[in-house]
Amino acid sequence: MSILKSPIKKCLESLSLATKYLPQGLCYLCQQPSAASVCPTCEQDCLFFNCAKAGHNLLNWPAIKQGLTPGKYQQLVALSYFQWPLDHLVRRFKYGHPKLASILVPWFLRYTQVTSQPLPDCLLPVPVSPWRYGQRQYHQTLLLAHALGKALNIEVSANWARRRGWQASQQSLGRQARLRNLKQAYQLNQAPLPRRVAIIDDVVTTGATIATLSKMLHKASPETEIVVWAMAITPVKPDPHILQAGYQFNLP
Ligand SMILES: [Zn+2]
Repeated sequence: MSILKSPIKKCLESLSLATKYLPQGLCYLCQQPSAASVCPTCEQDCLFFNCAKAGHNLLNWPAIKQGLTPGKYQQLVALSYFQWPLDHLVRRFKYGHPKLASILVPWFLRYTQVTSQPLPDCLLPVPVSPWRYGQRQYHQTLLLAHALGKALNIEVSANWARRRGWQASQQSLGRQARLRNLKQAYQLNQAPLPRRVAIIDDVVTTGATIATLSKMLHKASPETEIVVWAMAITPVKPDPHILQAGYQFNLP
């Protein structure tokens, strides 16, 4: 698999263009003066998944696994539930503020502790539809994958799969409708897959997208281990026992 430089370059251009639209020297959440993009007070108020408590795999946590469409991935890691403030940050990130990857990715690396586990050989961003790309002018999961790949020195495959046609968002569809829609929506590009890959997503809602993509990957390469890295998970029933407060600024 090769890194496609042009889409990544395009994404980074979007990232740099967006910088000037973010408040400089202010916390993105409370708008108070702060050297960090999110101030210590706000970060300590945030709740993140305690991934270690779930054995570094949220599929081990029944309240989370039960809400997801079964797929062919072996591990799921995410920052937190799609709740305040992550819902606000991820929505802004997806709709016009790509620079927010600079908050989400460091948080992901800090709180999920993915580096304590065997790392994937390649990152596979969930493909975006041409319709959505035309709206946003950037590919948000590719941006996440690129930032994660750069931080962890992992290859990013920008064109591992493509989303066919001009389907509208999955957001308004129910679980069954999503699955029907998705079966025809994606096409895997034929390429050898490494031993371990990570699908990169922004928000896992019903899990239908990652279930569909992981099944396609598994069919193409049954020996490949598939993990999913997401920024947020929409809870069916949020379980507070898997959450912990932000701690970066509490460290000695
Ligand atoms: Zn703040």
